[in-house]
Amino acid sequence: MFDSLSEGLQSAFKSLRGKGKLTESNMREGLQTVEQAMLEADVSYPVVQDFMQHVTERALGKRVLLSLRPHEELVRIVYDELVSILGPVDSSLHLKKSGCTVLMLCGLQGSGKTTTCGKLSQLLLEQKITPTLVAADLQRPAAIEQLHVIGRQLDVPVYSNPDEKDPVKVCQAGVKHAEANGSRVVILDTAGRLAIDQELMAELSRIDKKVSPDQVYLVVDGMTGQDAVNSAGAFNAELELDGVVMTKLDGDARGGALLSVKNVTGVPIKFIGTGEHFDALEPFRPEGMASRILQMGDMVAAAREAHRIVDEDEREKLEEMMASGEMTLDDFKKLMEKIAKPGLMGKMMGLIPGMGQMKEMLNNEDVSGGVKQTIGLINSMTKAERRDPKIIDTSRRTRIAAGAGVQPPMVNQLVKQFEQMKPLMKMMAGGSAADRMQMMRQ
Ligand code: GDP
Repeated sequence: MFDSLSEGLQSAFKSLRGKGKLTESNMREGLQTVEQAMLEADVSYPVVQDFMQHVTERALGKRVLLSLRPHEELVRIVYDELVSILGPVDSSLHLKKSGCTVLMLCGLQGSGKTTTCGKLSQLLLEQKITPTLVAADLQRPAAIEQLHVIGRQLDVPVYSNPDEKDPVKVCQAGVKHAEANGSRVVILDTAGRLAIDQELMAELSRIDKKVSPDQVYLVVDGMTGQDAVNSAGAFNAELELDGVVMTKLDGDARGGALLSVKNVTGVPIKFIGTGEHFDALEPFRPEGMASRILQMGDMVAAAREAHRIVDEDEREKLEEMMASGEMTLDDFKKLMEKIAKPGLMGKMMGLIPGMGQMKEMLNNEDVSGGVKQTIGLINSMTKAERRDPKIIDTSRRTRIAAGAGVQPPMVNQLVKQFEQMKPLMKMMAGGSAADRMQMMRQ
């Protein structure tokens, strides 16, 4: 995600690394590289100006210039400013304690609205809430059927009425239907257009007035850069949005839209879409995103991903294990088998601090091959070694490596990997409780 922005910022930090105390002119050069990286990422110009003004003020302060590690200070300053332009964000869906909460999704055609209905449903299902979906996109001929397909895939009810031509009536009837069925949440999938036009705005604003949804979210395509920011501004003027869902950030989106939208429109990003599958929706956290941009990893997001791939029975076992403090390489082996899916492994590694580089390797290489090797190594260890890898000395290392047919340094690498994954496994066991609380918050 946002590779070129990350690389641009890294090269600014690198230019200052090892310089010891800095002069103002050294620092100004580094700051110019930061500014260039932001502009190349297609961040709105006024946002870049504002951002650079804050960063420059702090970076040219005496404390930073005279500090022993000025480049680390600059990383910190850029991190703080990224968090500040991205937030604050409240990713709660504000579900009502009783009755049915109505969420309305709107956005241009192709932005990912219908897919996001499925993704939000999946998120709710994980919290044991079954929403009702309402097919109110009467513009795109295939939209109703697409929502039904999603409903069947996720086993979620879908309300539609192909004979009704008025989307307001479809929404009203859909909400009634959901209430009668005792749904706690109803999601309205409204119509889009290829571009913003008056007819679309009038239709959406009629739904907004007549149905009074509790939350109105705009879905925008993160790949469209400044167009996404402009459409957020236009929709917000008409609908008073509660938040933005920015999709397609898994592709080669440069990041400009994500970094600009809150600052330019005042509307916070609630969720980000990072893939076509239903599980590719993340509650947006400015701190996590700033960490990712600065290649510092995002443990909370990693734990969340990990939590999703472990089913409930296993989670209980994991919780017990963590509580007893007995996490062994055998447990690690099971985890590796679980995440050994192409793509998933790379995604997880990209989120773990310090594992960014491994991500590329894992994405390109035969993932199952790597996992097989890990499993081979663990298999050639004794029970005692699996329980306590600290006892592995040189002769044990040679024996284990020979047993698995690899070089001895691979054994060290595996043990290191195991240590790095431990906190992740801990969060995996209890990780989503915070999410659940967050979502229910009023
Ligand atoms: P709608 O017209 O706004 O309802 O858009 P759709 O939900 O039909 O999505 C349009 C296309 O974008 C589909 O091919 C989706 O699979 C794809 N899509 C949606 N969200 C994402 C995302 O987060 N990442 C990627 N890569 N594709 C997405």
